[in-house]
Amino acid sequence: MASINGDRLLADLRELARIGAYQTGVDRIAFSAQDIEARRWLVGKLKQAGFDASMDRAGNVLGRDAGAPKAILIGSHTDTVPKGGWLDGALGVIYALEIARSAREAKSTSEIGVDVMSFQDEEGSYLSCFGSRIFCDGVANSEIESAQAKDGTPLVKALEALATEAPHHRLDPNRHLCYLEAHIEQGPRLEAASQRIAVVTGLVGIRRFRIRAFGRADHAGTTPMNMRRDAGAALVAFAGWVASEFPRHAGPETVWNIGSMTFLPGAANVVPDQAELVLEFRDTKTAVLDLLEAKVLARVEDSAAASARLEAHPLSRILPADMSSSLGAVIALAAAGFGEKAMFIPSGAGHDAMFVARSIPAAMLFVPSIGGRSHHISENTSDADIVLGCKVLAEAVSRLQANPSAIGSNP
Ligand SMILES: [Zn+2]
Repeated sequence: MASINGDRLLADLRELARIGAYQTGVDRIAFSAQDIEARRWLVGKLKQAGFDASMDRAGNVLGRDAGAPKAILIGSHTDTVPKGGWLDGALGVIYALEIARSAREAKSTSEIGVDVMSFQDEEGSYLSCFGSRIFCDGVANSEIESAQAKDGTPLVKALEALATEAPHHRLDPNRHLCYLEAHIEQGPRLEAASQRIAVVTGLVGIRRFRIRAFGRADHAGTTPMNMRRDAGAALVAFAGWVASEFPRHAGPETVWNIGSMTFLPGAANVVPDQAELVLEFRDTKTAVLDLLEAKVLARVEDSAAASARLEAHPLSRILPADMSSSLGAVIALAAAGFGEKAMFIPSGAGHDAMFVARSIPAAMLFVPSIGGRSHHISENTSDADIVLGCKVLAEAVSRLQANPSAIGSNP
């Protein structure tokens, strides 16, 4: 059975959490001085352990196991959201460091080594999953040139802060057999089920629409109810339709949200002439997303003859990403070796694995988040669960080294 050093793992996680520490969490926004310090710290740790490590000019850190002709790529990201938690992303990177380092110390004779990755800007301070995208497929110059942070700082300017011209690290399909990413769950399901390890079945696709309603502004005291063209009422009726119709067509894992709603002109004594809301829905299955989209568009179409007319404007469409079921099965077997029955759940959040999975087989392991909290300084996982997750992933890696045919093909 593969072994790792649990105390060293926890010590490294805590050392990393001091870079950009904010109360009980971490503020390490991509390309900030703290983020770059954390990346250089990781390069130092990897070099110390004998890896060929560097940060490239995108901010991606790769530690190559130079003695091995092939490698399993393991990693995540060390950037955080503003005033974020200490484990989001960092956990998966330090797992990778600890697993790679332990395999080296054990003088593994496998021709499959472990390469360690920390991707840049997974959280999208400038461009969501910038690091994993540039590592796998590249990102168009036009997209890089137009990307900017909320405060208007261009990505091009942020890249200068890295102070390196080192060429981009690239996924090498001849070397990198698969990608493994561990992450905190960021939700309450493992804790609610009293389970400690989850295998991610897939990452959800997201469809987002702006629904707009058009009516006529009239005096709300003098216009009889049956003579109004009330855009607000039409939009609220649409929201009610979502609440009653979506459960009839959704899959068991579908989630949806109306996250904003506004009325214009927005006064108590004026019938709204315009109103809009933003509806998003998520599922790992394209067929479910397609069905819900068709229902939404048909409902909007039906409003054409109503006193207030609706329009649907697509805002974004993120494709679902399948995780490799053969890699997932290996993680579940590794968990069983520690007496843990893995739970199989989709990820409702995006991760770097989403992009890497387009090129090579990928799998994700989740450990519980206490109270389901994440993207907040209260984010935490028990030490015992942190160590167990790393042991399970290390065991999965050693099973894959011993039996590479279990890696399967993509996805
Ligand atoms: Zn993350």
